[in-house]
Formats: sequence, C-alpha cells, structure tokens
Amino acid sequence: MVMITFPQRLLDGYRTFTTQRLPTEQNRYRELSERGQSPEVMVIGCCDSRVSPEVIFDAGPGELFVMRNIANLVPVYAPDGGTHGVSAALEYAVSVLRVKHVVVLGHAQCGGIRAFIDKIAPLSPGDFIGKWMSMFVKPGEIVEQRDHETMTDFATRIEKASVLRSLENLMTFPFVSAAVEGGTMLLHGAYFGVAEGSLFVLDKASKEFTSVRDARDSE
Ligand SMILES: [Zn+2]
Repeated sequence: MVMITFPQRLLDGYRTFTTQRLPTEQNRYRELSERGQSPEVMVIGCCDSRVSPEVIFDAGPGELFVMRNIANLVPVYAPDGGTHGVSAALEYAVSVLRVKHVVVLGHAQCGGIRAFIDKIAPLSPGDFIGKWMSMFVKPGEIVEQRDHETMTDFATRIEKASVLRSLENLMTFPFVSAAVEGGTMLLHGAYFGVAEGSLFVLDKASKEFTSVRDARDSE
C-alpha cells in the first residue's frame, strides 16, 4: 500500500476538496488547464503555516502566483550563474505571466526574523537560515534593538522592515523596474497580524502600514 504513510489529514482534506470545493470549481480548473494560468497578482510571502496567501485573500485556483520563503525575502538581482529560486519565480511571474501586482506579505511572530534578531547559533553545519537571513542586511548595516524598545516591538519593526527591504530589492531586477517604471506593474507591501487576522497595507510615501479595516471603516 503506497498510501499507508501518506498523512491522513491530507487524504481527509482532499476528500473534502473533491466533495465540496471541486464541484463548484471544476469548470474553472478545466478552463485553466486548457488556457493556462494568467494570475494578475504575485504574492511573495513567508513559509509560515499560519500565513497562507490563498486563505487570507480568499483566492481560488489561478488567481495568485505565490512564492513563499523564510521571512518573505527577495534577494538583490545577481546574474552570477548561481541557482536562484526566488529570482526564477519572479522572472516567470513578471516576464512570462506579466502580473500586474507584486505583493510582499510580511507577518507577525515571524520565526525567520526572530532567528535573525536573536542572532541564534547556527542550527546546522550548513546554517541555511542564518545565511539566508543575512541577505536582509546591506553591507555595513547594523540591525539592533533600540533603547527602550521591547523585544516584541523590535521584532515587529524588523518584520515590517523585511517587507520594505524586499520591495527595495525587487527594483534591482531590470525586468521589475522596467515594468514598474513603464506603468504596467505595481509593487505593494502588506503585513498580516496572526492573532487578529488583521491586514495592514504599506503606504510607500510614509513607509507606514495602515490597517485595511480602519481604512474601510473610514470610507
Ligand atoms: Zn515568517
């Protein structure tokens, strides 16, 4: 029996999908299969299991092109012959799918950010997380807790800064900056508060994150 070790939770979930969701989405899947995908939005989020873009934005099949990694980081453009997973996903979304929006989605209680600011000892000889998070810091830049800043506030500040840094790094990709400057694509920052399920959207001019709920209430 091949299925014996496959997680029961996933088998149960798939059964629910086929009986409840698939019947309503079957035509959509067939259409997507024939015509291919053409999502308008790319989301760059964290791997964190609590921060699923499809759940948060109530997205159906074919709507979001999602790239998740530790701490929702985008590296600086580096055409160095290396194997760059994030850059490949970005290239596909922007140059092939021609998405209209790229959203960098940060979140509260990010383990990647916490590992980074705690300067924890390498988790393994390879220390992939430490090496990965080091791309967050520019050469010569120092990331430190401010006087009178609680650890929680420090973490929140760096979680939000990771969104800004990714947005900054996105513009180092020639195909991204060309699309943005040509007016065919917009970049956005957002932040998800896990406990409340709250969403904050970045105002690029002030570099502040505004609650979507507050913005909606004031309309
Ligand atoms: Zn995270």
